Amino acid sequence: MKRVGFVYDDIFLKHETPKRHPENKDRLVAITDSIRSSALTKKLINMRPRMASADDLALVHSERYIEKIRTQCPGFLDSDTYLSPHSFEAASYAAGAVIEAVDRCRQGETDRVFCAVRPPGHHAEERAAMGFCIFNNIAVGARYARKKGYKKIFIIDFDVHHGNGTQSTFEDDNTVFFFSTQQFPNFPGTGSAEEKGKGQGEGFTRNIAMEPGAGDPEFINVYQDLLPPLVSRFSPDLILVSAGYDILKEDPLSKLNVSQQGIKIIVQSILNSSAVPVIFVLEGGYNLAALGESVVITLREMLK
Ligand SMILES: [Zn+2]
Repeated sequence: MKRVGFVYDDIFLKHETPKRHPENKDRLVAITDSIRSSALTKKLINMRPRMASADDLALVHSERYIEKIRTQCPGFLDSDTYLSPHSFEAASYAAGAVIEAVDRCRQGETDRVFCAVRPPGHHAEERAAMGFCIFNNIAVGARYARKKGYKKIFIIDFDVHHGNGTQSTFEDDNTVFFFSTQQFPNFPGTGSAEEKGKGQGEGFTRNIAMEPGAGDPEFINVYQDLLPPLVSRFSPDLILVSAGYDILKEDPLSKLNVSQQGIKIIVQSILNSSAVPVIFVLEGGYNLAALGESVVITLREMLK
C-alpha cells in the first residue's frame, strides 16, 4: 500500500463566497464527510498545510498583486471571484498546502498526496484573480518544487475548464510540462490544441479540446493511450495534478459526461504513467455528492 498524505485545514472553510455561489465551503465539507463515511481516514496520513509566505507566492505572482489581495476590502475581484475577510489567509494556506506536500514527498515521507483546498487556483494569473481562483496553488507548488531540487515536473489538469493561469506561468518553460484536457469552447476561452507553448517551452504544453457531450470513451482514450507515452518521454521526477471534478456528468457547470468509473480510470492512468511522487490539488467540482464520491475514488486508487 502506498503512503498517501491528505492535506486539509478548516481555514479553507473561512474563504466565504456570496449566497448560491457554486464555489463554497460545502464542497470541502462534502469531501471530508465522504472520507469519514468511507472509513478511509485511518489509511491516510493527515497533514496540515503551512501558510505560503509572500516569497513563496512571488514565485508566480507579482508583489503588487499579492499586496493587493492582502490589503483589499471584501468584494468581487472579477465577476465571479470573491474576496472575503479571511480569503487572503485561506488562499495563502491553499498554496502552502501544495508546498507542504512537495516537502513531504521530497523528504520521502509520502508517495502521493491529495490537497483538499479552496479557493481553487488554476485560473489565477501572475497579476489577476479569475474564475473563483486567487493564488495559483499548483503553479506555486511547481515553482517551489523546482527550487527544492525537482528537475522536471509534469502537470496534468483534468478540470472541465482550461488552466489558463498554469499554462501562462509555464508556457516558455521546458522544465515543466503542462498537459490539459478541457471542454472547448468554454470558460475561460483558452485551451485550444494550437496552444503548444512558446520559445524554449514550445512543445511542452499539450491541450486536448473535448467537445460538449464528451464522456468516458473520449477521456479513457486520452488518459490511457495518449498521456502515458508523453509522461515517459518527458521523464519527470514529480507529477502534479489539477483535479477538477466538474467533468462529472452530474456537475452543474459542465456539459461533459464523465462517470465515477471514468474518474477511476483517469486517476489510474495518471498513477500508472510513472513511479514518481504524485500530488493531486483540488480545483473544481460543484455537485456536492458527486464531488465527495470522486475524491474517495481518487484516494482509493492513490492508496493501491
Ligand atoms: Zn473548473
